[in-house]
Amino acid sequence: MKVIHLRCASLGCRELLAVATDSRGKLVTCKFCKRVMRVPLEKDKGPASASTSAATADTTKE
Ligand SMILES: [Zn+2]
Repeated sequence: MKVIHLRCASLGCRELLAVATDSRGKLVTCKFCKRVMRVPLEKDKGPASASTSAATADTTKE
């Protein structure tokens, strides 16, 4: 299973947490300070490919 490394948002903690990739967009609890935070979604990959192909089809008209 792949993991994401997430820095704890608590200023008094700042520990590096390893969370599963399927935890994206969900809430996780820091095992060190018990702070709850949201796992950020991945920016590079994802549902953007659908809109990219639509834009390509539009430019072929010219
Ligand atoms: Zn923490």
